[in-house]
Amino acid sequence: MIVRVGVPSEATRAVMYEMAALQPDELREVGRIIDEDETVPADEERLLALIGTVDVEVVRVAYRHLTTKRAPRKRREPKPGSVAEKAIYVRRQGQTRDHHCHWPGCPRQVPPAMWGCKEHWFRLPKALRDRIWATYIPGQEISGTPSGAYVEAAAAVQEWIATQ
Ligand SMILES: [Zn+2]
Repeated sequence: MIVRVGVPSEATRAVMYEMAALQPDELREVGRIIDEDETVPADEERLLALIGTVDVEVVRVAYRHLTTKRAPRKRREPKPGSVAEKAIYVRRQGQTRDHHCHWPGCPRQVPPAMWGCKEHWFRLPKALRDRIWATYIPGQEISGTPSGAYVEAAAAVQEWIATQ
């Protein structure tokens, strides 16, 4: 069953009837699912499985949640090549091989897609961090062929660290 958020349809009302029995934390979980998309992949079974005790206030909150929510915005995809897109990529990368933080002497292991550990990364001036982001090309840590601009940015970082 798919529930469209907006004017409560018969299907929505049917779900709300089931929601009447949800515990507050279960309701929050439903709310979270609703927030994630315009359509709720609310399989009826799952909702039915969550049934507990009836709570009028919970129904009221659920009803308000379902009926006052405006049509959700389309989730914005980060622009290809943007820092936001790169950041999503980097955060998903794991420790695929031995690779430590580039701060001299720091032994912390970080995924090859990352320049360094959190502590040292944020010790760098923002201008340098921005430069690393701007020149970093996702996948360069796999191919082993960073651009000249990235190599220069990384060298500038090491120069800055040396002055500390
Ligand atoms: Zn470090």
